[in-house]
Amino acid sequence: MATVPHMKWWGWGVEGVSFHHEDKPKLAPFIQRAVDLDVNTPPVPPMKLEDLPIPTPTISDELLEELTEAVGIDNVHSDDLDRIVHTYGKSLRDLLRLRAGDIPRIPDVVVYPGDEAEVQLVVDRAVAANAVLIPFGGGSNIAGSLGPPPEETRTIVSVDLGRLNRLLDIDTESGLARIQAGTLGPEIERQLGEQGWTMGHFPDSFTHSTIGGWVATRSSGMQSDKYGDIADITRGLRVVMPGKVLISRPLPSTSTGPSVREMILGSEGRLGVITEVTVQAHRIPEQRLILGYLFPSWEAGLAAMQEISTSDAHPSITRVSDSRETEFSFATRKKSSGISISSLVSKGLMKVLERRGWDLDAVCLSFIGYEGGTKHVRRQKAIVKDIVGKHGGIVVGKGPGQLYDQKKFDTPYIRDFLLDRGAAGDVSETAAPWSKLKPLYDNTVAAANKAYAQLGVTGWIMCHLSHSYHSGACLYFTFAFRHDGVDPLSQYDLVKSAIQQSFVDCGGTLSHHHAVGTEHAAWLEQDISAPGVHMIDGLFAAMDPGQNLNPGKIVAK
Ligand code: FAD
Repeated sequence: MATVPHMKWWGWGVEGVSFHHEDKPKLAPFIQRAVDLDVNTPPVPPMKLEDLPIPTPTISDELLEELTEAVGIDNVHSDDLDRIVHTYGKSLRDLLRLRAGDIPRIPDVVVYPGDEAEVQLVVDRAVAANAVLIPFGGGSNIAGSLGPPPEETRTIVSVDLGRLNRLLDIDTESGLARIQAGTLGPEIERQLGEQGWTMGHFPDSFTHSTIGGWVATRSSGMQSDKYGDIADITRGLRVVMPGKVLISRPLPSTSTGPSVREMILGSEGRLGVITEVTVQAHRIPEQRLILGYLFPSWEAGLAAMQEISTSDAHPSITRVSDSRETEFSFATRKKSSGISISSLVSKGLMKVLERRGWDLDAVCLSFIGYEGGTKHVRRQKAIVKDIVGKHGGIVVGKGPGQLYDQKKFDTPYIRDFLLDRGAAGDVSETAAPWSKLKPLYDNTVAAANKAYAQLGVTGWIMCHLSHSYHSGACLYFTFAFRHDGVDPLSQYDLVKSAIQQSFVDCGGTLSHHHAVGTEHAAWLEQDISAPGVHMIDGLFAAMDPGQNLNPGKIVAK
């Protein structure tokens, strides 16, 4: 049997790992205040797999035989667990649906091809049988990019790329690394690292997402300020389409008309199955350091990030949290070990800041990352220190940065903890020009609060800026509220829609790095205009006239 690792079918991460509040004494009162939830509410765990109303697979003997012939009997799975794991991603809607047993349509079969030739056979046979093909990476997307259309009557084949998990080679002269599309983040860095290289792409979902998924959703990583988003890192691609392989050769730059590489980036499986990605790799830097900073206000933090983005310093990370997210970070302080952001930002320091006239409720925590040779890092730190000081901020040192670096991949587990106890938590992120960021932020917070008021719930919304560019930055909002337990999805829709609408109304994009899927498709036309949607639609129609490839994503046709 194919032994590809998967996340829990009902939530984030691996079985046996979950979020606990007991060792964080400030968290329970914080959650009570923020979303009116008593963390001691007895948890309601998700349904048992055997209780899910799993539809019987619909696949002809002929197609099953052909797929088996293509990839081998061990690599064709149609057991309930495999089919459920491959049904949805990890959006809040996905998780709520699974918890409610709302699974009208799930893949009928999951295949695990072992190389590009097998992918080609699978694609050709499935399309010849007029089946639907949904490529699957790590299943971590949160935009509804995987879910089969509920009304789909054709056979659905999930193509899991997990066996394509190797670094194929590195052109060391050019720093170009060829990597198979199903390789998960940690494997990429392990295999590159063995030869002294890094790709520098570290999304928060790094542990459970693949390079093919990153390309197909236009992902962005924590260190994208230095290394670029996946769209910048990707130099070449191989994509299996019905009857052919599209090759976008790795080139530093080219003027071959509209970019075919760009058409594949963000295509969410609608143009074919990506089998190989050639990326720009970098020598592992001599030094890697994240420093913590505090700002007296959100405005000061934003202004500093903007100035840093156009300065001679080129940090790998620029991130600043608003006061609410800072409060959340401080509330995750651990009791026993003493290692927490708030313990590292000492009480003594806070007293000094208060004496200096800081409003401690408005304090904003920031992280700035540096990579490179010692001299380079020293010079960048000095430039940033001046800018931070100019905006009234202070350096709080390495401790908070180290802690953030260690804990960043654990935070996602908190959403399942909240869901078990009746609160819905999710994220929405955007990018906008610097001139529009502050009004967009204010409007979005107000829109979410208005939605909470409409629902009559206590809700929370917090934000950080990350991923800075010369012209603007990404704002990443996290929101949560205690739902009514009756129709959590419509309550969620009201809040999520208010936030998304605020983004496009205020000059932001529908998503900076989580893609369109089905979750954001309603805002596509407002984002890229009707002719833009028409172009995308035309591309999909021309390349996939039978709508066999992940139909219904990005444009709802
Ligand atoms: P999947 O979820 O399996 O698939 C996503 C889409 O890509 C689907 O449409 C699928 O059909 C298609 N696809 C996958 N592989 C292929 C392939 N080989 N060929 C063609 N199409 C393919 N995203 C970020 O960018 N940055 C973050 O920091 C980040 N943090 C996250 C944190 C959490 C807790 C969660 C839940 C998600 C986060 N995401 C983040 C979103 C998600 O991880 C990304 O969208 C990621 O790129 C998806 O990769 P995947 O391998 O899991 O793809």
